[in-house]
Amino acid sequence: MRRNFFGIALLAAGLLITGLSSASHAARSSRSSGGDSSPITVVIDAGHGGHDRGGIPGQRIAEKDMTLDVALRLRNILSANGYHVVMTRSSDVFVPLGGRVAIANSYRNAVFVCIHFNATGRSGASGIETYFYSRDSLPLASAIHYYVTGGAPSANRGVRRRGYYVLRKTAIPAVLVECGFLTNPTEAAYAQSAGYRQKLADEIAAGIRGRNSVGGGFSTTRVATAESIPLQPYIDQTKVAKSERRRSKRSHKKSARKKKSSSKPADSEARTGTSDREG
Ligand SMILES: [Zn+2]
Repeated sequence: MRRNFFGIALLAAGLLITGLSSASHAARSSRSSGGDSSPITVVIDAGHGGHDRGGIPGQRIAEKDMTLDVALRLRNILSANGYHVVMTRSSDVFVPLGGRVAIANSYRNAVFVCIHFNATGRSGASGIETYFYSRDSLPLASAIHYYVTGGAPSANRGVRRRGYYVLRKTAIPAVLVECGFLTNPTEAAYAQSAGYRQKLADEIAAGIRGRNSVGGGFSTTRVATAESIPLQPYIDQTKVAKSERRRSKRSHKKSARKKKSSSKPADSEARTGTSDREG
């Protein structure tokens, strides 16, 4: 009950910020040392590519093009700010999920940022979601989400915990940002603007820079623990079969019913089954 209360309060506030004691400690250290001092490697993962367009079948705007463009902009920003940047792809090629994870896992003192755009058959669905899986990834997810939702006009769909392959298999902090729905006319129009994609890249970069300090900047009443962000059902994207898609849809319907009491619609259908194999 207490946890539910916190969940709803946080959704209303539009912020899901880490309250892990380690994060608070890191935030204190970061503030006292004047910010982000340790040089890190940022592995940027532009979703999809090559024969994998991303999104849903028949989608007009190819997700793979939008993710690559934001990723390249993010690379430029971070490189200019002294980060070591590694791209899982920097052109329109297909890279298997295992290959993406292997690249990420070959770096220490690094973070992994996957860039995606959402899609669903319901054109009304809109907003920005940020996913993490490991506890270590929550501060980064919170910070990126805080900045991206702060800078974008789209709805805040929250920080969500989910076992996407690229998040589960990475040994470094890993976050997947869904930068809006390409199946929503308004958000598709945003995404097609270079200025907006630059804004997204700027905000993701701000989140990476602020990864150790965003969680500490708020009062405890607005702080979420990792436990207050439930693990969502996930599909093993390397082994998606039709039966699994159906199972996943059923479990989503169940969780949608449970969430009816909250003030926010449960629009998780975008992440299920056929809509997007990878995220
Ligand atoms: Zn995607």
